[in-house]
Amino acid sequence: MQAQTARGVDMKLVDENTCVRAETPPLAGLVVDAMQAWLPGDRRLKRVRQLARALSRGRGAIDLRIARTGCFIQRQDLRPLGYSSFSAFLREGLCWKPSWQRSLARLLRSDLDLVKAAVDARVIPLTRALDAPGRLTVDQQRRFIEAVVAGAPHPARRLRRGASTRTLQGDDADAVRRGRRLTRLLVGRRLPDRDADRQMQAWHAQGAVPADLLDPTVAPPPPDLSDASWPDTADDPATVLCGPWTEPSDLDDAIHRARALMATRNRRRAALARLLDQVHRCWAFLGWGFASFGDWVRRDLDMSVRTAYRIRAEGRALDAYPDLSQAVDQGLPTERAAALSRLATTAEDLRRWLTVADHVPATELQRAVADRGHARSRSRRTEALLADAPALVQRAMEQRQDRLDFAALTETGGGLAGWGPGSQPLGPDPVDGDPLSGIAVALADPEPVTSGAVVVESGVLDAARWLLQAVSLPHTRGTGRVRRRADHTCANPECRRRTLRVQVHHVRPRALGGTDDDDNLRCLCPSCHLRLVHGGFMAIERVDDADVFLYPGRAVVVR
Ligand SMILES: [Zn+2]
Repeated sequence: MQAQTARGVDMKLVDENTCVRAETPPLAGLVVDAMQAWLPGDRRLKRVRQLARALSRGRGAIDLRIARTGCFIQRQDLRPLGYSSFSAFLREGLCWKPSWQRSLARLLRSDLDLVKAAVDARVIPLTRALDAPGRLTVDQQRRFIEAVVAGAPHPARRLRRGASTRTLQGDDADAVRRGRRLTRLLVGRRLPDRDADRQMQAWHAQGAVPADLLDPTVAPPPPDLSDASWPDTADDPATVLCGPWTEPSDLDDAIHRARALMATRNRRRAALARLLDQVHRCWAFLGWGFASFGDWVRRDLDMSVRTAYRIRAEGRALDAYPDLSQAVDQGLPTERAAALSRLATTAEDLRRWLTVADHVPATELQRAVADRGHARSRSRRTEALLADAPALVQRAMEQRQDRLDFAALTETGGGLAGWGPGSQPLGPDPVDGDPLSGIAVALADPEPVTSGAVVVESGVLDAARWLLQAVSLPHTRGTGRVRRRADHTCANPECRRRTLRVQVHHVRPRALGGTDDDDNLRCLCPSCHLRLVHGGFMAIERVDDADVFLYPGRAVVVR
């Protein structure tokens, strides 16, 4: 298996490298520790290059395999696991970026078989192929592949490199940021900056935002759930690493496979991250006949320079913080590690974040990174909340049970899922010796607003200004006031989706004496509201000054 081959190369390097401590776990800091002392022409450098290629070759293949498994999971009912949407499951349950899944799934579900085969045979890079679905017909595939092979520049990169980008400051930067925020609210998804910019420009060019986006009663179109396919060749690195593809038998099987793939992906990425950083630092690419680091990663690793620098930055963070490095070796996903390294300015900060990192939802970690200016106070408040969390969860579960018992006696709550007798148990299962098992915490702060300069393509500023003028949000009377105060954000800490379609939920139902007071009202997105809460798969309990969200097998305390 290739994993073992990669590891084998790794271990061989270790054997020859007397400086490496014996207790260093495999695929950890190894190859690299002593590389700076190696002279040009050292034959071990040749193996370093082989290792880098092996590690980078598996990249796209594993991601495609995860995405293909994801396409299967997307068709299943995820409510019994306490996830309102496929995106929430990917982010929280798998540590996998929903926007990346969407991008890969578009290719997997497309009929561009020739493009897929070209990626599989490493004729064109995956990053280029991802641009094809939606832009290319089946008949245009051959020309597209030939153009890429002939060296046609990436359309997005051509724009970035050209003179068409602008750096904006002050009010202009602020307009773009507010435009992006409004775009995300209208689309109801966390779009990456570039996608939000493109969307704004498209609306600007059309002269209007589609009316259905502005009408909260219109449901968005259903997602594409068609079959995903990929040429299953024997030398596909994913086949080499994980065996030939077979359709998962059920949801459990699919999740099990997806987690195993994620573990392989994380180990591979962490090892590659360290390696890229060392090669860059030691200028080893010169000895291999490449003029620059960028030249090497592009030609030898089929990797964009941007990706290489991003992965390399993760490696630097790992080297700078031994604690982080250890956490990654113990299974902390690299993307989470990268977020933590951005949050921490000292090793002490980092240690604090590491103690809480397993107990904050991914969305909460993203918010913390966006609110870096307050990282220290956030970590302190998170720690304090974590200390209180087991008792709060305990009381929330008792509170819910009392109500269910009462309902059983009086036959109230009929028709309200999760409120009547026979409702399924929610909340963490007790684990001996670990009071925090299945418990996470999140801060009730509003979404942080960033400042500073932004770099955009020309036209984005005009589009943003136009959008801010053209769209006025619904009125602020009645429940609109509640929505606006919540910034149209879903209160579920594992979702936190911002959408105009957000609904107002009574923590205690009106039928059971709940009031319209602010204290009893929360905003939830339609999925969390209708599918989770009113499906009996999530409960919100108010305990003291905290909201406790109970899901099957876990809980999140928000304060
Ligand atoms: Zn939600």
